Amino acid sequence: MNRNYILMAVNKAGKNVYIDEVPNGKQCGCICKECGGELFAKNNGKIKVHHFAHATGNDSINCSQTALHILAKEIIAEERCVPIPRSGKIEFYSADKVELEKSLGDIIPDIFVTVKGRPFMVEILVTHAIDEEKLDKIKEHRISCVEIDLSNKTFESKEDVRAALKNPFNMKIIYDDDIRMIQERKEILLNYGLKQKICRGGIVVCPKLRSYVPTYFCEDCVFGCKENNDFMRCGFVLPFVLKPNFMEVFNIILKSNTVMFDDEAQKYNASHFGWKATEAVQRAYIMRRFLL
Ligand SMILES: [Zn+2]
Repeated sequence: MNRNYILMAVNKAGKNVYIDEVPNGKQCGCICKECGGELFAKNNGKIKVHHFAHATGNDSINCSQTALHILAKEIIAEERCVPIPRSGKIEFYSADKVELEKSLGDIIPDIFVTVKGRPFMVEILVTHAIDEEKLDKIKEHRISCVEIDLSNKTFESKEDVRAALKNPFNMKIIYDDDIRMIQERKEILLNYGLKQKICRGGIVVCPKLRSYVPTYFCEDCVFGCKENNDFMRCGFVLPFVLKPNFMEVFNIILKSNTVMFDDEAQKYNASHFGWKATEAVQRAYIMRRFLL
């Protein structure tokens, strides 16, 4: 573990402040968030790194780690540019809302964000990595989560931390709910989907288009799933056995579309089906009643 400079402190008003935002020396009137001890600001120098030091001279490693954790969270809250998992990859998105230390009942994510209406979590690793227990809870909440690892690094300024928060090499996906949804949809299609033989790289009669379609179309279609090189499974017309929870199952299939965000999914549905997903469900339902 690395000892870092203390770059954040708590001022008299109880607000988190950066070293360059306060008067020099004792005048800063700040205390340490971790130990509550009085801090002096050392931000006059041109060569030495600007930082806070404890009045007692006793700089514990816990104090600098807590300060780094706060600084990282404040930067993300300021910038609102967050890394989130998207079908197995990390991408940066502008968040609609960023909430620090928001309680979800049994867990408190470091950073809880909303991107295009969907919740995500970002965890900052300084000392404690996410343990099994927290991971299980994250999965239960079904909220995708990225961890940014700032441990074993030394930061001399806010800019250093800012750069580390944008570096994909410091990030890993802790939980990706898109993967769960895709898996859930795949299982349904493999278990209940209509078995279609692949001929000359395609399906002879697509239940939607009623004509020959190449399998790359099926693989891209929310209703399609490849079983092996010989067969595709199509969920456009689900079997009667699913009737009691037909809508529920269909919603799982269509919801895996939220691997894209709602607006992207709408465009996708429009381009692939020529109508919206909800209408696709209704039509398939009606079609089912005619066929049975
Ligand atoms: Zn302290």
